[in-house]
Amino acid sequence: MKDLNDKERVIGTYTSNKKGPLLFITAAVHGNEPSGVRALEKIFKTLNTEQPLIEGTFVGIIANKTALNNKVRYIDEDLNRTWTSHNIQNNVTDSTEKKEMFEVIRILETLNEKEHTNRYFIDCHTTSSDSLPYISVQEVGDNDTWAHQFPIHIIRGFSDIVQGTTDGYLSSKGLTGFTLEAGQHNSVESEAHHEGIIWIALEKACNLNFDDLLDTPDAVLKTRKGTPPQKTFKILHRFGLKEDDDFKMQEGFENFQPIKKGEHLANLNGKNINSVWDACIFMPLYQSQGNDGFFVIEEV
Ligand SMILES: [Zn+2]
Repeated sequence: MKDLNDKERVIGTYTSNKKGPLLFITAAVHGNEPSGVRALEKIFKTLNTEQPLIEGTFVGIIANKTALNNKVRYIDEDLNRTWTSHNIQNNVTDSTEKKEMFEVIRILETLNEKEHTNRYFIDCHTTSSDSLPYISVQEVGDNDTWAHQFPIHIIRGFSDIVQGTTDGYLSSKGLTGFTLEAGQHNSVESEAHHEGIIWIALEKACNLNFDDLLDTPDAVLKTRKGTPPQKTFKILHRFGLKEDDDFKMQEGFENFQPIKKGEHLANLNGKNINSVWDACIFMPLYQSQGNDGFFVIEEV
């Protein structure tokens, strides 16, 4: 495995000098999530070696370079919360992450909007606990339609309830895209799902024909065949926690797991929390920190 120390921010750019869209991929917004970086490195290596034709320009970048190089989630604050209009309009640079953010913005601004027929993005993430890969889509512009081009589960509305996210910023700038949660941080499956989804984005956005490669990448086949049929979910309920709450999730819940009315989900301050929903569980909290105990989601 290639050493991830001291990476350049731009992992690669690729074009066949044909008019078309911009496909802008961000990885390692959280420095403890190197999977998207590795996937992009593999993809650029294949593209540069095999030189297939694409329309437009494909760019892959490292968002939180300092945190990635230090193998930590962030240095001063969460980069996926800094992208507020306040910080950006007032040029606030009082943390490592805000400086990283402005470097990403500078790169995006050098990629002239007028030269592209459309602009797409994917923001690559992974999760602390094991999960099926999924897309978290903010329901603005064409994001939801674009997300449905990909063969994995989709969560609507999650990105809409948190402020200052990378995908919120990119969407507000008129790019079409979503957050991709590919699986557990260190799982090899996550890297394959990042790779597979980015290849499919090259096919859908930039008209890449997999026949122009020596082989259709394994990651594409794995993502197409190795994941359950796509379902689209919306958020029914957020089980929020207060500062002093003593919360313990029942063991064994995984993202998208069905739950039934009356089922014992968690304990809060010594009381049982039982489900009042026939639905599915999402992001059950098994770490010591967090303001969200769990979410309840329902298939649309
Ligand atoms: Zn993340």
